[in-house]
Formats: sequence, structure tokens, C-alpha cells
Amino acid sequence: MADNPQTVREKTFAFSLVTPHGKLPPLSVKVSYLPMRLSELVPLMQAICDKIVGQACTGLGSGEKVTCSKGCGACCRQVVPVSIPEALFLMEQMELMEPGRREITTHRLSNALTECRRDGLLDALLSAPSDQAAIGAAQEYFNRGIVCPFLEEGACSIHPARPFACREFNAVTPPKWCDDPFQNRVRRVPVVPKMTTVMARFAAKVLHERPVVLPMATIASEVTMKPSWKTEKRGIDMFSALLDCMNQQPKCR
Ligand code: SF4
Repeated sequence: MADNPQTVREKTFAFSLVTPHGKLPPLSVKVSYLPMRLSELVPLMQAICDKIVGQACTGLGSGEKVTCSKGCGACCRQVVPVSIPEALFLMEQMELMEPGRREITTHRLSNALTECRRDGLLDALLSAPSDQAAIGAAQEYFNRGIVCPFLEEGACSIHPARPFACREFNAVTPPKWCDDPFQNRVRRVPVVPKMTTVMARFAAKVLHERPVVLPMATIASEVTMKPSWKTEKRGIDMFSALLDCMNQQPKCR
């Protein structure tokens, strides 16, 4: 029977997702009829992302296994792309930190942004005119040794809340190779759909903007400068739009 919004505050979305690695077990997500922030959809999609990644990892060939482990943190020196909903979500996560930790993380974010702004690197990251230029900017970012502001003692301090790009980074080559990913051909578990892209398209649809993907270092300044991103819309409408964006990904329905 269809949900009645007069009596039920949440709608259950039941759907299936087929990835290149097979069909996921049926998915069911409860979403509010009431207005929600873009950031509130992030945990729902993190749960789906983890299922997609889990299935992709089970499809590895014999002799292959994920070589990432706690305490490595080599990938946390690469530029991390985040969508607008994730940028908002991460800033909310920072609000929840105890003041001392928040101050340290804010300081690290500010330092990372300053380094990105030096000599036009940020412009190169945000608007590279070609794939080759984008790779060059990412390499320059890595060469500058800009460490993710959330990395603490070699481990992710926001692990349950980490961005989609981090969730989807699962190397199958020796960990040492990640010390220089531009020299070594680091191989990763292929994941489709890429949730950063899905969320960027979704945010573009809701905000009537072009799709935006930001380097992690910029989130504090971008979120502060764009109050329009804090819009609220009916949860069920936003989740329907999100499912549409997921369906636009190759080999996903
Ligand atoms: S958010 Fe966590 S996992 Fe992702 S780059 Fe930063 S420290 Fe590493």
C-alpha cells in the first residue's frame, strides 16, 4: 500500500542496484517527507556506497586482495575530491568536534588552503582544461606534501564519516606503491557508480548550478561563501533526484 504523507513522516524507497560486479541485495532506504538539508542525504548514500564497494571487493580475482590498512595514510596525501553535500556534511562533522580538536582541524584546513592557493594550484585543480592538466595539478598537489587535515597519527580521524572518494579508494597493489602514485601504477578495486560524481550531479540538479567537485582543502571557505548551498527541500523529492542521478551512471540501474 502506498505511504500516506498525512500519517507517515517517512517514505520507504525499495530499489535494486546492478553494478558491473552483479546485483546488490535489495536496498531499502527510509526518507523523510519533511524538508532536509543536502548534507542529511550523505549518510544514506554512504551506506549504499559501502555496499557497492563491499561487493566490488568480493569480485577480486584469485590472488588479489585489498592492501589498505589502518595506519597507512599514503592516499591521504593526494587531493580528495568532494561534492557539495559532502562539503556541507564535513563542516557539520567539524561542528560536532570538541573545541580543541575543531580548532586544530580548522587550522590544518586553513594551511592546506593557503598552500593550494600558492602559485595558482587551486585554479588548476578547480578548472583544469584537460584530463592531462588535471593529472598535472593533482601531481603538483601531491608533490607539495599537503596532508589531509583529517589525518591524525597515520589514521583517519573521521573514518565513519570519510568522503566517498576515500571509501572507494581500495588499492590492490603493494602499499609502498602509494608512496609515489604518479610513478607507480597503483591499481584499485574498480567501483561503479562513483558516488562523488553521483552527488555532484545531484547537487547541480537541486541547486540549479553546474556540477561542482571541490578539493577537500577548500571546503571551509566554499561552504562559508555559498549560503545558498544550505537550502532545504522535501527529503523524498531529493532522494528521488538522487536515484535518477545514480541511474545515469554506466552499468547501474
Ligand atoms: S578523510 Fe580520512 S581517509 Fe580521507 S584522505 Fe582524509 S584522513 Fe584520509
